[in-house]
Amino acid sequence: MSQARVRFAPSPTGTFHLGSARTALFNWLYAKHTGGTFVLRVEDTDRERNTAEALTVLLKGMRWLGLDWDEGPEVGGDYGPYYQSKRSSVYKEHIEKLFAAGRAYEKGGAVFFKLEGERYTEYDEYHKAEVEKVRTEPQVINDVVRGQVVRAEERDFVIVRSNGQPVFHLVNVVDDITMGITHVIRGEDHLSNTTKHCELFQALGSPLPVFAHIPMILNSSGPGKMSKRGDGVHVEDYERRHFLPHGLVNFLALLGWNSKDDQELFSRDELIAKFDLHGIQKGNARFDEKKLAHINTEQIRRLPEEDFLELCIPVLQSAGVDMSDGAYSEQVLLLCQSKVRSLMELPDFVAYFFDEDFSFDSKAGERLFKKGEPLDRLTEVRAALAKVDDWNAESLDQAFSDLAESNGQDKPFQWFPVTRYTVSGTGGGPDLVPMLSVLGKERVLVRMDSFPYRYPT
Ligand code: GLU
Repeated sequence: MSQARVRFAPSPTGTFHLGSARTALFNWLYAKHTGGTFVLRVEDTDRERNTAEALTVLLKGMRWLGLDWDEGPEVGGDYGPYYQSKRSSVYKEHIEKLFAAGRAYEKGGAVFFKLEGERYTEYDEYHKAEVEKVRTEPQVINDVVRGQVVRAEERDFVIVRSNGQPVFHLVNVVDDITMGITHVIRGEDHLSNTTKHCELFQALGSPLPVFAHIPMILNSSGPGKMSKRGDGVHVEDYERRHFLPHGLVNFLALLGWNSKDDQELFSRDELIAKFDLHGIQKGNARFDEKKLAHINTEQIRRLPEEDFLELCIPVLQSAGVDMSDGAYSEQVLLLCQSKVRSLMELPDFVAYFFDEDFSFDSKAGERLFKKGEPLDRLTEVRAALAKVDDWNAESLDQAFSDLAESNGQDKPFQWFPVTRYTVSGTGGGPDLVPMLSVLGKERVLVRMDSFPYRYPT
């Protein structure tokens, strides 16, 4: 497979929409997959919207997702500058080239691109006027995703506005040519621009890149396009909510692409190995926040322990959790790694490990008291656990078995709910015995003893 030169060409707006992030990811993956080059090019010709802050949000989001670029802002490269605002001389040169080839003309202060073909005039309903049209050869776009798209431009179009600003179509194509871009992977909303782009490539004597237009993303429900604004549609929202960058990457990869074998969870290396343009689907993708949450949970489980710990510490610190006992904190976190659904939920999930004043979940309490006599069970289990000298998961298992046996039971399950509730205030969480083992004998017995006072019945 030949090495691709691909680009992500955002116009920074101050937020980093998930749809753009997906375009960036598909380009990044394809570059990595082919051992090629991923270029970040900033389409900042709209001066008012493109502020330095807007660019910072974008670059920060890219870095957070781990989508490092080989050429572009802050890293440089042989094809720069990578900001359209700094490339006016390149555009000028190409506009002159079009003039020289008789493919550009001036009218009313603007510069138009001249189509080739027979000219005729026609009354146009939309413009309510006679307009000049051109019978051009249709352009055949061999889009990797859409298949063969045949369209023709009918009217000359503006390439430089009367204020001197070159328009998007021109700068986009000139940049793709001068940066040696081999594959244009971008949103389907640009498919309608592609005939214009093909005309420009040809007029400038350049071969066409391979096009791959990726499907739209629909809202989680209903037929509409995914919202542009609101909470949960930008990369920053997920960073703030402590999602794993790779959880989001894995989810975005599946928005319009699949590996043909229904695999849902991928490591970064697996994505790179399996991603290719033929796996991009034609049909629209659907944004499903539940799926994102699920993938995020699964990716938390798959993290190497050290990485998980490293990610947890700032989250817990900013929530004010006292982690002065480092070894204990580490045990707690590793115990919870396979159970917690998100890092956002982590501070609440582990609160009772760090605070004697933890709260009791009232629903779980009601359930417990509805079923028999929990305080009698508590007295029994407290006595059994008090006898354990060498406090660890094995001896605790043994203590529970002995308790069951001396009460004529096969299994100790009837003592579990009350034990869990008195020491944690919840009805769920990590497996009971490892949890007791980590909490330690002293905490467990103190909590059992204070339970009747803290939880009046
Ligand atoms: N600046 C354009 C956009 O953000 C890029 C289009 C392209 O990738 O060619 O949609």
